[in-house]
Amino acid sequence: MAHQLTLLPGDGIGPEVTEATLQVIEAAGVDIDWDRHRVIGANAVERGRPALPSDIVDSIQERGTALKGPVTTPVGQGFTSVNVQLRQRLDLYSNVRPATSLEGLDTPFDDVDLIIFRENTEGLYSGIEYYDERLDIADSIARVTKRGAERIIRFCFEYAQAHGREHVTLAHKANILKKTSGLFLDIGRDLAAEYPDIKFEDSIIDNLCMQLVTNPENYDCIVSTNLFGDILSDLTAGLVGGLGVTPGANIGDELAVFEAVHGSAPDIAGQNVANPTAMTRTAAMMLQHIGEDEAAAAIEQSLFAMYRDGDTLTQDVGGDASTSEFADALSDRVASKVEA
Ligand code: ATP
Repeated sequence: MAHQLTLLPGDGIGPEVTEATLQVIEAAGVDIDWDRHRVIGANAVERGRPALPSDIVDSIQERGTALKGPVTTPVGQGFTSVNVQLRQRLDLYSNVRPATSLEGLDTPFDDVDLIIFRENTEGLYSGIEYYDERLDIADSIARVTKRGAERIIRFCFEYAQAHGREHVTLAHKANILKKTSGLFLDIGRDLAAEYPDIKFEDSIIDNLCMQLVTNPENYDCIVSTNLFGDILSDLTAGLVGGLGVTPGANIGDELAVFEAVHGSAPDIAGQNVANPTAMTRTAAMMLQHIGEDEAAAAIEQSLFAMYRDGDTLTQDVGGDASTSEFADALSDRVASKVEA
């Protein structure tokens, strides 16, 4: 029976990398009945609808799993980020963003294999901001709750245990942010005692950034609050070839939305040059989540082989192939792997 999933192609490069990814999923032979929603973000607002229309939320709540392209967030003003709204409304508290070296890709390091676990619903993304016009003062509240910290840190430990990972680092700034980062760190230390087989350490965020760009191979699972986690995931994406190759997932207790780390990249949108690797790897994570392990492995292995061979790669990773050429080449490889 076909899987019933929700599809949000998004805007900017979203529709291009989504089309490429659908082609690859089809080549892997997975039968999916997609509930597609193109009206979201700015193009929903232009039609007089909320940036995140309720039929999208309903669809994901009903179907449980979605594949999502990026949706542009206006800077400084305009509607609240659709990406953030979706994570908060669906309570997708774990943002899982792996950064793994790809053999064949020329990067400063070739042995990076780490995962960022970013708290996805609170911290500086709580949306509690004030501007006092009398005094010209802007405030932002970085809310950390015991429940919110506990569930993301536990998710990280459980994931590490289930996937044979050995080391969890908690990133914080508890020397300065004594209440918010302090609470997150205290809870991390308490939970670590429940997982004696996993090595636990904490690291102050600025020092961790320096360590990551000098010795990234020393890190395995890194858990942090929302903004630190976001910045760390772009930093670690840069270590392994950039935003074009780095996948991601937003996971809650019941629902999951799979979404690459990159944004809508308006500078290259509509030019058929975006790298669909991040989105196809995101789809592979989704396929694993819905039990299509073989198809997920076929996509991942075909991608790795493509990078090893170094042919048909896109501009951002040193090649000259277009998005659609990449999608055709990857689909051919996936199809022959599945048939073999
Ligand atoms: P957001 O605020 O929405 O997360 P961002 O500011 O992190 O977005 P992105 O849209 O993710 O920015 O892109 C940053 C730059 O990285 C883009 O300008 C683009 O050049 C490059 N980039 C991002 N994704 C891709 C991709 N899939 N293929 C090629 N280049 C990409």
